[in-house]
Amino acid sequence: MQEQLDQLRTAFAEALEAATDTGALAAVHHRWLGAKGELRTLFGQMKQLPAEQRPAFGQAVNALRGDLEQAFFAKQESLRASVSADAIDLSRPGPRLHTGGLHPLAQVQDRIIEVFTSMGFTVNEGPEVETEYYNFDALNTPFWHPARRDSDSLYIEDGHMLRTETSPVQIRTMQKRRPPLRMIAPGRVYRNDKPDATHSPMFMQVEGLAVGHGLTFAELKGTLLEFYRRLFGRDTKLRFRPHFFPFTEPSAEVDVSCVFCRGAGCRVCKQSGWLEMGGSGMVDPEVLKEVAIDPEEYTGYAFGLGIERMAMLLYGVDDIRLFYENDLRFLRQF
Ligand SMILES: [Zn+2]
Repeated sequence: MQEQLDQLRTAFAEALEAATDTGALAAVHHRWLGAKGELRTLFGQMKQLPAEQRPAFGQAVNALRGDLEQAFFAKQESLRASVSADAIDLSRPGPRLHTGGLHPLAQVQDRIIEVFTSMGFTVNEGPEVETEYYNFDALNTPFWHPARRDSDSLYIEDGHMLRTETSPVQIRTMQKRRPPLRMIAPGRVYRNDKPDATHSPMFMQVEGLAVGHGLTFAELKGTLLEFYRRLFGRDTKLRFRPHFFPFTEPSAEVDVSCVFCRGAGCRVCKQSGWLEMGGSGMVDPEVLKEVAIDPEEYTGYAFGLGIERMAMLLYGVDDIRLFYENDLRFLRQF
């Protein structure tokens, strides 16, 4: 009987030694330690023994089983360790984590907000679906103004429309807050435009407004000059060209010295040395009256900037549509 146990121990040790992968190891377990394995068969033979020999035999088989299991688990561990040591190549680059990122327009908008808030402006928001009152009437834009045509603006129904600029937020803010106030209103606006390299039916704007005692065109110029210098560099220059907007009087278009050629003339600025940036002016007294602010007591200035325009200049992007196509090859560059 002892001989039988020794044979089993030897055979098991040899099979275990020969097993070099998990499949072979599982086969060893199945053959010797499994529910129908050789150890179990050995236990089954106990019945055939005389009663007085059974306890000693049982103990011997149990001891053997303990040894085999211990050897088996030791082998399993060493196999596992060697497999994982081979599988890990420490010289390989780690798995690439695809983290999200801010859209380039969101990054530029954040930068604009940062500069203006540092100059004491608050950030205000308003609805993208507006009434004609807030979008036009309150901003002194008469019913005959070309901007109100279907061909320029997107109407919904019942006097509602997609806002064509973020200026309505200025009206909403002035209805709630009394001067002095300094605010910017960043956000999406909509025009009935065909998309091309420089036009998109949806784009982003930042409108700014300041109302207080004795505000002048000089402060408007100083504010915009500081803003553009912080965005494009300290040597940036500013110039105003007379223009007309319904909600400001006087009004001016704002140009900055070309950020590419520094005013010398290049392809981007069409050799003029200047880039058109947006509109500005002193708030029309009619607009102040509309929100019950006395234009005899207070004056204000306002300006509007295109965020895409600024992003295109800052990043050297030549087609506005790239910002809205969501091509990851484009977006990952920011
Ligand atoms: Zn230029």
